[in-house]
Amino acid sequence: MVSSQDIEFFKNIVGSENIYSDKAHLIAYSYDATRNRFEPDLVIFPRDENDISKILKYCNEKRIPVIPRGAGSGFTGGALPSEGGIVLALEKHMNKILEIDMENMVAVVQPGVINIELQKAVEEKGLFYPPDPASQDYSTIGGNVSENAGGMRAAKYGITKDYVMAIRAVLPNGDIIRAGKRTIKDVAGYNIAGILIASEGTLAVITEITLKLIPKPKLQKTAMGIFPSVESAMNGVYKTMASGVTPVAMEFLDNLTIRAVETSYKKGLPIDAGAILIIDVDGNLEEDLDLQLSTIEKVFRENGATQFKIAKDEADAKNIWFARRNASQAITIYGNKKINEDVTVPRSKLPETLRRFGEIAEKYRLQIPCFGHAGDGNIHTNVMVDKNNPDEVERGYKAIEEIFKATIELGGTLSGEHGIGLSKAPYMKLAFSNEEMNLFRAIKKAFDPNNILNPNKMGL
Ligand SMILES: Cc1cc2nc3c(=O)[nH]c(=O)nc-3n(C[C@H](O)[C@H](O)[C@H](O)COP(=O)(O)OP(=O)(O)OC[C@H]3O[C@@H](n4cnc5c(N)ncnc54)[C@H](O)[C@@H]3O)c2cc1C
Repeated sequence: MVSSQDIEFFKNIVGSENIYSDKAHLIAYSYDATRNRFEPDLVIFPRDENDISKILKYCNEKRIPVIPRGAGSGFTGGALPSEGGIVLALEKHMNKILEIDMENMVAVVQPGVINIELQKAVEEKGLFYPPDPASQDYSTIGGNVSENAGGMRAAKYGITKDYVMAIRAVLPNGDIIRAGKRTIKDVAGYNIAGILIASEGTLAVITEITLKLIPKPKLQKTAMGIFPSVESAMNGVYKTMASGVTPVAMEFLDNLTIRAVETSYKKGLPIDAGAILIIDVDGNLEEDLDLQLSTIEKVFRENGATQFKIAKDEADAKNIWFARRNASQAITIYGNKKINEDVTVPRSKLPETLRRFGEIAEKYRLQIPCFGHAGDGNIHTNVMVDKNNPDEVERGYKAIEEIFKATIELGGTLSGEHGIGLSKAPYMKLAFSNEEMNLFRAIKKAFDPNNILNPNKMGL
């Protein structure tokens, strides 16, 4: 699809040292965290926005697909070149923190900046960038914005979209645009930055992001509640959040997950518990944290918690968090293939959602351990199957479809954080009407009439 003449043209823009078509690069850039593979024809490392503009203009004229890529840690195939073409890899050159503006409390970054590097840089100055996806050590801010990534702290601090103030981007025809401002308020014109957030590289290549920062809270404490059933824990979640306390994080592990962690790591977890809730609270005063914890304990106990344990120190807190941080790996004891989704429901629907997922597991005779960001209504459902057993794999996918249907019926969404990409594209019709899908397609067409930018994604 990419000719030698095209390659010569790109070399003149970025230099031959920034263009690769050798097998090693094509394989390296054919994956993301889904482990599906599609090889591109070419990998280009643009040096700046002008390079991107020239490359896109040319590709638009020649109808060459272009796939923007950060770290390739996406869980839904968003950065995969499913129709070949060019992977535009932004992590190599476009990875600078351009400014930390203390007076306005904003950071301006290039898209290839790694999330944790930004967090560290602003924390050195007493500021705080809260979005902390579990992939924070390697995922990029450009990828985070394009997927609207969330993290453990979302229950209190929200997700990536809550921190994006402005974006610079290149449209598929090469035009460079600015969307948003370094202002708290901005109601002039359409919210184009809002449309670009979570657009999964289908509308424009994001080249610069202005992010809101907040003061870093001085104190943090961790606690754990143990519940007899997953429903009682889920009642505890939404009632806590409605009680006026806002924990930073409120994460859950169901019984299957607790057992898996205990089998794998022997941490002394209560294997007969229906669920565990792990919470962090933060603030600037000890008394404030103590009040938050006592309120949470009261609500937890009113909803059946049999134990409530506050971490004594940092080591104890780390130990409590160990179970959650290692849940994903531990549950592989139930099957060598994990079909995992990140559905999200209104918090008050969590008890019913978990009950229905339990029924789906029984119906299809499968193990479906669940854990995740209960405080956000975001459940990581993991349908575990034996990949060498076609019947089980088929039942697994049927179970997933029912999980999506139940989620939508309960007012929830297909994805709370991982996006749609390729893997969830077939399910878009469950969540959106024809009219809504047509509106999405019209937006795509307005930005990318020739469909060169990340084609084939999001069911468009
Ligand atoms: C172990 C693990 C844990 C994870 N935990 C979380 C979690 O807690 N929360 C969460 O939300 N996600 C999580 N993820 C998923 C993933 O890390 C996030 O979606 C992340 O935001 C992707 O960033 P990336 O830099 O890897 O982007 P990529 O995977 O490279 O790209 C993701 C999408 O963004 C597009 N894109 C990337 N950069 C740009 C750009 N500059 N302009 C336009 N489009 C662009 C790509 O085309 C693609 O569609 C996890 C992944 C792994 C492997």
